[in-house]
Parts: sequence; structure tokens; C-alpha cells
Amino acid sequence: MARYTGANCRQCRREGQKLFLKGEKCYSDKCALVSRKEGAPGQHGQNRKKISEYGLQLRAKQKTKRYYGVLEGQFHHYFELAERRPGMAGENLLKILESRLDNVVYRLGYASSRTQARQLVTHGHFTVNGVRVNIPSYLVKENDVVAICDKSKALDSIKALVESNSGRPVPMWLESDKTNLSARVARLPNRDEIDVDVEEHLIVELYSK
Ligand code: SF4
Repeated sequence: MARYTGANCRQCRREGQKLFLKGEKCYSDKCALVSRKEGAPGQHGQNRKKISEYGLQLRAKQKTKRYYGVLEGQFHHYFELAERRPGMAGENLLKILESRLDNVVYRLGYASSRTQARQLVTHGHFTVNGVRVNIPSYLVKENDVVAICDKSKALDSIKALVESNSGRPVPMWLESDKTNLSARVARLPNRDEIDVDVEEHLIVELYSK
């Protein structure tokens, strides 16, 4: 499975905002956007010229891809899927990205970052509707039940992860059962429940060219 392997904090500095790619560090003073001067990475990062309309559209797409850790081919596939669904393509795109299993695992506080969530899913620690699923890009649907496998619940490493992320709020569209370490997807999120700070219409405009 292909994935981005470059420096995570560099991606945030490039986008000029937190993308929450490194778990606990992102919520601390050690975050590169807090501890270092802001600005794009590289020698000329501080001196970039006024951004063009195309540049804005490109940045919106790159930021969203980086936020969810999705590469270009799959991102474009999600956009095509979003266009075929009723409603606004940009909003549909974000809903599809939110419904990825790795994102759901992260949102439920079973992992510190989406990168870690992806790794845990790949290692087979989760079930969907009672069946083990090890595909991070698996798209959950309304009423699906996502759970940590019984064997994995007993692992100290999983217990520690759940404990360390217990303070992070779980979004309303996921009905979390903290006792059984499972959750029902009550519905897909509304746009105002998706905290990615992006103007998704810019992505639609970019792909419509
Ligand atoms: Fe981004 Fe997290 Fe690095 Fe901060 S610590 S720059 S939010 S990846």
C-alpha cells in the first residue's frame, strides 16, 4: 500500500496549519508550528509571492490529501465517487474521506494519529460488523459497528493507546461504547462536524478544469 513517507511536520509548515500527523506531539508545545517560525519549509519559504487562483486550488487539494494521508490516485478516485453521489461534490468528498476506516479509528481515540490508525488497521486489530478488516481505506457505512478485536483489547499497547487518547472528543456521528471498545456509525458526518479547515469548492474547481 503506497503512502507518503516524508517528514510530517514539513507538510504542516508547507500548508501553514496543523494537520495533526504526529499524534500527541501535535497537541503540545513541541509542535513545529508552535516552536518554530511559521512559513513554508525551504530557503525561500518566507518569500513566496502572492498565490494565484490555481495555486489556491492546488493547496486546498494538497492540504486535504495530507490531512487524511491519501495519495493522488486514490484521492482522485474519491472525487469521482463524490461526484456520482447526490449533493455537493466537495462535501461528499470530505464525507468519503471521513468514512475511511483509519480515520474512524483515529476519531474514536483508538490511535494518536491517522498514520498510527492505518498501521493498527493493517495489523488486523479491528473488526467491522464482527468481521476482521485490515484495509485502512475501507469505507464504513451508516449502522456499521467498528470494534477492537477481542484479542487486541487485552494487549497492553492497545490499552495504553486508548487510555492516552481518552481525552479527545469523539464526534457525534459515531456512537462510542467505551466499555466494549466499539462504536456504531450513527450516520456520516455533516460538513460542520468535519474539522478540516479547507474550502472544498476549490478542489472541485481544480478537478473541473
Ligand atoms: Fe503538524 Fe503535528 Fe508536526 Fe505540529 S507536530 S507540525 S501538527 S505533524
